[in-house]
Amino acid sequence: MIITVKKSATEKELERLEKDLRGKGLQIHKSIGDEFNVWGLVGDTAHIDESKILAQRFVANVTRVSAPYKLANRMFHPLDTVVDVSGVKIGANEPVVVMGGPCSVEGDDQICRIGQEVKECGAQIIRGGAYKPRTSPYAFQGLGSEGIQDMVHAREKTGLPIVSELMSIDKLDEFVENVDLIQIGARNMQNFDLLKAVGKTNKPVLLKRGMSATIEDWIMSAEYIMASGNPNVIFCERGIRTFEKYTRNTLDLAVVPIIKEKTHLPIVIDPSHATGDWKYIEAVSMAAVAAGADGLIIEVHDHPSEAWSDGAQSLKPEKFKEVVDKCKLIAHAIGREM
Ligand code: PEP
Ligand code: MN
Repeated sequence: MIITVKKSATEKELERLEKDLRGKGLQIHKSIGDEFNVWGLVGDTAHIDESKILAQRFVANVTRVSAPYKLANRMFHPLDTVVDVSGVKIGANEPVVVMGGPCSVEGDDQICRIGQEVKECGAQIIRGGAYKPRTSPYAFQGLGSEGIQDMVHAREKTGLPIVSELMSIDKLDEFVENVDLIQIGARNMQNFDLLKAVGKTNKPVLLKRGMSATIEDWIMSAEYIMASGNPNVIFCERGIRTFEKYTRNTLDLAVVPIIKEKTHLPIVIDPSHATGDWKYIEAVSMAAVAAGADGLIIEVHDHPSEAWSDGAQSLKPEKFKEVVDKCKLIAHAIGREM
């Protein structure tokens, strides 16, 4: 339930209403606007009599929210949320952010070198997987803690924040200590214990869409993180499974306006996992920026044919620069910095 409170409300009136609502076991999330303040009620509002609330002179409106997500809901929080990743701001009218780097960290030299290259090409955040969710148990599983330390070294050398995927709760402390942005991968989007665990930290979370998740499933996963106390969630669309075989996944670009309509959280696009082929990254990245995405996360490798994972979809640094430059033109065309 959303209560729109007039600015003319007195402290006493607000106190009384707040006490009454809290007494009914509800949580109140307040959003301060220019003309009105919005109170979002979380909890069981079935027994609340909205006509009684509306009868108070300082209440402008009462709306029941039918969507199952509350904290992520734009009705609860009309203004866009900006997530701050160690100084890099993502969302609202902030410049479009680029994250680039290899699928897997392959060693200190590799991640420091590629990290420097993506920085020179215009990336603001370095990506690199140290714990890898591979389909085959016989495939390279990632360098683990060593890979995280290599990423930390790349951050020291470049000054750029780092994003890496967390697969299990037992590595949470390692990530909180070392990583700027915690990625929850597509395969773990509905690992609810993991979502609750990252929700208890205040680290920004990059929440990828599960490969067969509906938009509502995905938003509910963000709700899990937020309901545990962490409001710093960034959505990441990386393509979903369909009958189509010419791309690795099917990129659902309509999610950009839908996520912006239904929620107040930022959304970035991963064209690499969405297409699975470096040849398509440029067109898809430009389309994502044109649609209003707040950022891109792109796999980059200086020797894609030798990459330990996802070489076929990795851009060489020169090509990555071209893609970033073209996306800048698109961003400027729609009145956005990049
Ligand atoms: C990745 O980012 O390398 C990755 C495995 O992503 P996803 O979870 O989207 O498949
Ligand atoms: Mn990958």
